[in-house]
Amino acid sequence: MTGEEVKNLQTKYVLQSWAKQKGLNPIPIAKAEGIYMWDFDGNRYTDMSSQLVNLNVGHGNKEINEAIKAQTEKYCYISPAYGSEPRAVLAKKIVDLMPDNMAKVFFTNGGADANENAIKIARMYTGRNKIFSRYRSYHGSTFGAGNLTGEPRRYPLEPGIPGFVKFFDPYVYREKINFESEKAAADYYVSKLREQIIYEGPDSVAAIVMETITGSNGVIIPPEGYLKGVRKICDEFGIMMICDEVMAGFGRTGKMFAFENFDVKPDIVSFAKGVTCGYVQLGGVCVSQKIADYFEDHVLSCGLTYSGHPLACAAGCACLDYYESANILENVNKSGKVLGETLEELKKKHPCVGDVRYIGLFSAIELVKDRETKEPLVSYGKDPEGIMGSIIGKLKAKGFMTYSHENMILVTPPLIITEEQVREEMEKVDEVLNDVDAMIGK
Ligand code: PLP
Repeated sequence: MTGEEVKNLQTKYVLQSWAKQKGLNPIPIAKAEGIYMWDFDGNRYTDMSSQLVNLNVGHGNKEINEAIKAQTEKYCYISPAYGSEPRAVLAKKIVDLMPDNMAKVFFTNGGADANENAIKIARMYTGRNKIFSRYRSYHGSTFGAGNLTGEPRRYPLEPGIPGFVKFFDPYVYREKINFESEKAAADYYVSKLREQIIYEGPDSVAAIVMETITGSNGVIIPPEGYLKGVRKICDEFGIMMICDEVMAGFGRTGKMFAFENFDVKPDIVSFAKGVTCGYVQLGGVCVSQKIADYFEDHVLSCGLTYSGHPLACAAGCACLDYYESANILENVNKSGKVLGETLEELKKKHPCVGDVRYIGLFSAIELVKDRETKEPLVSYGKDPEGIMGSIIGKLKAKGFMTYSHENMILVTPPLIITEEQVREEMEKVDEVLNDVDAMIGK
């Protein structure tokens, strides 16, 4: 097929997520390798978002491709109740990467159902029903995960599930209070959360669910001490601490899991994306030894036809092996340092940049109309003039492919990106930010 034919067929028959369908203009991709993609006319695009922040190892990873092929020669599918080598091996590999309190894995198809099952497990284990999660969060778009989500992608699912309670994020940049230190900020948010839990009745709260580092809502990095404070609340009241590592996990932040940056051990971890980098879709829930023990004598009332799909698990095993053999964390820290430095320069130079937040290769540029007032470039949940879309379009015209959320540009390249490639690509952002400065009249 030609690129034009692919595009026409797709727009005619495929409903695209999170979009008005009229006027869509997807780039037909003919091939992809490493951090680059090419259309049918040979134009090259750089993947600066790792697709949906999942393609950590980039395109065309030979080891993962070979592992999938090898598994197809044995069998492609066997139901969850049978023993399957890739399933068993991958579960062990994941548990081995986790802190020492973690014991077993329940596999899912992706991130949303990982969160759905994480909540179910917490409810069954605690015998409680309330679930706390934050406003600036995205946990998936299925009914339960969509209710867990705090940002506007939750609205179509409302009225929400009873017992799902939202709390405020430790979003220090947008806080009206001027904290004297990160610790002071952490203390404030933790004490407000504790107060809210008391009002809700701690004995009814099954879990606090958090993206360890908020991803699509703007890489909101919790202040030092915050997660330890949440851990303390969970311990005090017997609440399960669930870290959603779907986006932040598997090396993105320079550690294998984001919670390692904060020296805490969750009770439950949901994961997806980077476990297979999308070569075959997979997600899962890792639970602590205590929770695993509970289900020795209680039925685990969770199930999916494709739980632990052999092809996905074979891809997962090869993917985790690749992270290790390619020394991926070292590269994330090296290239991430350059990314961080570049972002700081952009912040100094461009009045439209209110804040930059980054850790490893996980970063966001927060755009404002005015640095003093911090007025966002677009209002929360609204961008009727398509301002952010036009900025992303300008980056796309330069071959820099990423996406925006609210007034934020996400920059989350594949973890294999080199320092040189980071420098080269970020020059394109610099050029586009000149236009945004002009747009706000600065
Ligand atoms: N949790 C987080 C933090 C995510 O970023 C996402 C997707 O972006 C999900 C859950 C949902 O994952 P999936 O799209 O695989 O259902």
